[in-house]
Amino acid sequence: MSIINQNKLPLSSHHYFHPRPSPRVITRVHCLITTSSKPKVEPNQLVIESPSVPPTQFLATSKAPPQANDPSLKSTWLHRVWLASGCTTVLISLAKSLVGASSMHIWVEPTVAGLVGYVMADLGSGVYHWGIDNYGSASTPIFGNQIEAFQGHHKWPWTITKRQFANNLHALARTVTFIVLPINLLFDDPTFLGFAGMFSGCIMFSQQFHAWAHGTKSRLPPLVAALQDLGIIVSRSQHGAHHRAPYNNNYCIVSGVWNEVLDNHKVFEVLEMLLFFKLGVRPRSWTEPNSDWSEEIGDQFL
Ligand SMILES: [Zn+2]
Ligand SMILES: [Zn+2]
Repeated sequence: MSIINQNKLPLSSHHYFHPRPSPRVITRVHCLITTSSKPKVEPNQLVIESPSVPPTQFLATSKAPPQANDPSLKSTWLHRVWLASGCTTVLISLAKSLVGASSMHIWVEPTVAGLVGYVMADLGSGVYHWGIDNYGSASTPIFGNQIEAFQGHHKWPWTITKRQFANNLHALARTVTFIVLPINLLFDDPTFLGFAGMFSGCIMFSQQFHAWAHGTKSRLPPLVAALQDLGIIVSRSQHGAHHRAPYNNNYCIVSGVWNEVLDNHKVFEVLEMLLFFKLGVRPRSWTEPNSDWSEEIGDQFL
């Protein structure tokens, strides 16, 4: 536990970002409550520390936020093709489940399996989100692009609301196609396909639920706002907590039903300790929020 404490940001400190242009330098301001030994300061004296990380490191990792018409936020035809294939894959699972249930006259098992798939997709989204938020880098095989995208999301969370639909979902849709399409071809059991269809569909659309969680309620479709209020998809308030210090909770982005359970039982913190002691790997959430984790203020476009 001492490892966590020595890396966490002190409760009394705040980060302030100097206005651009770059280079951006983070200055930590402490309002001292107790006297420290060296150098000698008066109680309640405002002390300005030098940044603990050299400014050059911030320069190396900082990028400009995407602008409103940035091509990186637009959907390409390839994105749309992957999204179409992912949706088709999910529909095949659900259709096969429905046809099988109808011919075998079983409805309870496939329905319960679908509900279990929906609940487990929330857990799966949390585990995956925790993994890519905390481990690896842009150069990590297979997951590198997602890791980089989520780091960018933590820095400029509002950009997800400007990302076009297929652009936002195509990566998960491609994964669903590769994994679930073979399952559709190999299995006929309506219960299993009910689970697979709901689980993969919720995982694929989790990025859209995530985008809606960053939306302003008055600008969201009324049905989406109602689903958020009912807890059927992740709420804005619950996901908002994920983007505030200490940046290590509320990882689930389907319904958010697992967030309280996982956070109250410190499941991810235990996993982080296990990975650290077994493999010596530190999660990003142990280091104090730096330029890769902190939200830039004042750059929002509407
Ligand atoms: Zn995150
Ligand atoms: Zn977010």
